[in-house]
Amino acid sequence: MAYLKLQNINKIYPNGFHAVHDFNLEMEKGEFIVFVGPSGCGKSTTLRMIAGLEDISNGDFLIDGKRANEMGPRERGIAMVFQSYALYPQMTVYDNIAFGLTLQGADEEYIEERVKNTARILGLTDYLDRLPRALSGGQRQRVAIGRAIIRKVGIFLMDEPLSNLDAKQRVTMRSEITQIHRETGTTTIYVTHDQTEAMTMADRIVVMKDGYVQQVGTPYDLYFNPANVFVAGFIGEPPMNFTRGKVKEGCIAMGGELMLNLQPKLQDKLSSYEGKEIVFAYRPEAIVLGKQENAYNIDAKVELTEMLGDNTNVYVKIGEEQAILKVDPHDTPEMDSMFSYSIPYDNVYLFDGKTELVIK
Ligand code: ATP
Repeated sequence: MAYLKLQNINKIYPNGFHAVHDFNLEMEKGEFIVFVGPSGCGKSTTLRMIAGLEDISNGDFLIDGKRANEMGPRERGIAMVFQSYALYPQMTVYDNIAFGLTLQGADEEYIEERVKNTARILGLTDYLDRLPRALSGGQRQRVAIGRAIIRKVGIFLMDEPLSNLDAKQRVTMRSEITQIHRETGTTTIYVTHDQTEAMTMADRIVVMKDGYVQQVGTPYDLYFNPANVFVAGFIGEPPMNFTRGKVKEGCIAMGGELMLNLQPKLQDKLSSYEGKEIVFAYRPEAIVLGKQENAYNIDAKVELTEMLGDNTNVYVKIGEEQAILKVDPHDTPEMDSMFSYSIPYDNVYLFDGKTELVIK
């Protein structure tokens, strides 16, 4: 049986705004789930409904098989870390971490043992006597996490906990949070708008847009089997290349002169699309330099190159269409030159031009 179950969860705010539509998810104990999506897509609202900080307008929320819609936040056995660390500035790291247990009236020996253990997991042992102002942003966030994990809770919720940190600290904290999750094994839901955080940390990712779940899957699933244009474009950096075209007698006619012969396997499959629009898509890294068989061969003009060290982003123009390619820096083409590349048939995704759903 699933540990957490969200069944057709909806949120309609008092002003009538429908922020979350029929959200469905089952979570196993110990899973690390990330909600990801652009600003305003309903991630925090869903998290707050799980935490009990926001009423659920419609639908059922179950914890371990028991309906939890009407349970208060404490009853749910949940701890939450927010974007702002909200530490008590006049209290030491020790007292900040201990706070929840002190409030519960736990005995001092137990508190000490738990604080020390938590500080060890978080690498804060040497900082227990310090005040928050004498800590770096990353260390403060670790104290905030410590305060949440010291209580033995069933569910750990985090809302953009790294957004106040600089890029380098974020990378470090990302792996630390994954490590903490491994040690504690606590079922975790983590909200972010950063696809890299989602991809690197999650067991499974829930991609949201405009209050609707777009796809739920492992990072591998979302990268290799995106359900629609939105997920395909959201996961991956630089984003996938998309070109709209019409199916015409075994070809795809795209902007300008560009016409590609559909691979033989697809000619039958796409017969129902004759005259209709589809989206032809491939990842910048899924190309091969030069021409080859069993691939779509393309001639393009190089407009711009960006050498990033481990790869070069090459911006090309194919007729009226633009694309970004990721190539080995040693193969960086000359600016303004003509350039041939191929997209192996298996690396191409096709989406329905109207529904934007993947064509399987
Ligand atoms: P962000 O990444 O910016 O935090 P989010 O995905 O977490 O975005 P939510 O905070 O869940 O988005 O908000 C979802 C939608 O609900 C937004 O359009 C927001 O304006 C709206 N919303 C949030 N709180 C309220 C409220 N109290 N009343 C009405 N609408 C609200």
